[in-house]
Amino acid sequence: MESLKQKILDEGLALSETVLKVDNFLNHQIDPQLMQEIGKEFVRRFRHKKITKIVTIESSGIAPAVMAGLMLDVPVVFARKKKSLTLTEGLITASVYSFTKQETNDISIAEKFLTEGEHVLIIDDFLANGQAALGLIDIVEQANATVSGVGIVIEKAFQDGGDLMRNKGYQVESLARIKSLTQGKVEFVEEQEY
Ligand code: 5GP
Repeated sequence: MESLKQKILDEGLALSETVLKVDNFLNHQIDPQLMQEIGKEFVRRFRHKKITKIVTIESSGIAPAVMAGLMLDVPVVFARKKKSLTLTEGLITASVYSFTKQETNDISIAEKFLTEGEHVLIIDDFLANGQAALGLIDIVEQANATVSGVGIVIEKAFQDGGDLMRNKGYQVESLARIKSLTQGKVEFVEEQEY
């Protein structure tokens, strides 16, 4: 997605060879116009799939997920990273190792919001080693629902997550795929836009 790639080039900051900071438009301040375009692009890429619900993870997956949910007219559920005082029973949980925080945490979704037979599009902001997305897939499958696909805003293609999930047979669609972050320079994987 060209407008996203341009935004990353203009406003992204390679903090190291492995971490990209995009808090100008995705991880802290949010660019609603860009989020709308992102939502539209996810809808286009998964247009042949049945989708009855979108599942994401707090907090940075929520904006792109809501835009896609609005266009598909389906509900959006976000997995919580912390236990909530009002949400203690009937949870489906998975353990996720956080790439950015370097710690393992449980993520959970209330089972009443994810029921058997649903067709779920998973959306997240970044794909690195795939732990967050695999945790969401685990939760969807524990609910006996079907994963329709995985939509990612920014994939760091030099890390393992994308291959891991594609090799398991999931349709993974990443709107910008980064080849490297060497010496502060962002390089994208060359690919045909379709
Ligand atoms: P994974 O679980 O695929 O290893 O990492 C994905 C999760 O870690 C995403 O939900 C995202 O929040 C965070 N993350 C991973 N790499 C980056 C990065 O380079 N920049 C930012 N801002 N977040 C990242």
